[in-house]
Amino acid sequence: MATIQVPGQMPGQVPARVPAVPPPRADQAQPGGQAQPGGPRWRAAELIAGRAENPHTRTLTFDVPGWPGHLPGQHVDVRVTGDDGYQASRSYSLAAPASGDRVELTVQRLRDGEVSPYLVDAMPAGASLQILGPAGGWFVAPPAGAPDPVLLIAGGIGIVPLMAMLRARRGAGGTAPVRLLYSLRSPEWLCYASELRGDPAVTVAYTRLAPLGHPRPAARLTAAEISARGLDPADEPVCYVCGPNGFVDAMTAMLTRLGHDPARIRTERFAASAGLALTRT
Ligand SMILES: Cc1cc2nc3c(=O)[nH]c(=O)nc-3n(C[C@H](O)[C@H](O)[C@H](O)COP(=O)(O)OP(=O)(O)OC[C@H]3O[C@@H](n4cnc5c(N)ncnc54)[C@H](O)[C@@H]3O)c2cc1C
Repeated sequence: MATIQVPGQMPGQVPARVPAVPPPRADQAQPGGQAQPGGPRWRAAELIAGRAENPHTRTLTFDVPGWPGHLPGQHVDVRVTGDDGYQASRSYSLAAPASGDRVELTVQRLRDGEVSPYLVDAMPAGASLQILGPAGGWFVAPPAGAPDPVLLIAGGIGIVPLMAMLRARRGAGGTAPVRLLYSLRSPEWLCYASELRGDPAVTVAYTRLAPLGHPRPAARLTAAEISARGLDPADEPVCYVCGPNGFVDAMTAMLTRLGHDPARIRTERFAASAGLALTRT
């Protein structure tokens, strides 16, 4: 078992700001592949590969024997354990569609965070942690071959569950329209560059610094752009928005103003700390 560094912590002492390991939630029994007799449980997950997406972000591929499968959009809880038995858990979205015992996560480092620096910078191949899930039955894409058009809007690391949805659609060769609008600060934060580059269904919107030759200047996404690069509300797409709170609020308001049915807008917010509530609408 790998060691995690917990700054300022005495052996056996749980820092006040770290929430206790949460019990399995009711929604963890919701759709995610095979039924899990006795409910979801923590499973050992061995890191078999790590890939830098950019200087801040790493995609980690785990082998999780007995993984029951999952749906694009679902997430897991990850639990790391220090040599002294100290444990911390955080939620991470599944970055890729189900593929046997493989589980792929993409984690962005929060410099003063507790768990993400370990996952991005320190966890070596061959080390293990524990994974609970899959969780979430609402922020889940329609089946890959379904006729529903899908509009995906990501803010920063909120791209992760939407990438799983995009990959599932692409993998199934579905013909229903899909669009991705991906807002991020600058190229140094871009994830999945080689898969997204040149895809006409994808709009990458840099907000602070756009690379030379990028088809749009650095600016926040506007309603006009969502209208032009997204999907027509008349086609009744299912809209998925994921990112920080302010971004999700802004995008939801724009979608509604553009005429998208609020009942077809699904949101997920990545709380900054596991102690903060996660809201889905
Ligand atoms: C459903 C879901 C899916 C997610 N998916 C992803 C994903 O795919 N990729 C990804 O990178 N992240 C994802 N996240 C976010 C992830 O769960 C973590 O919140 C993130 O990695 C930070 O964890 P950390 O341990 O590094 O930081 P933490 O130690 O949790 O700290 C987070 C921030 O909060 C501050 N903080 C912590 N506790 C307190 C306190 N008590 N008072 C004041 N400030 C405090 C810290 O200083 C820091 O700035 C997801 C979150 C949710 C809820």
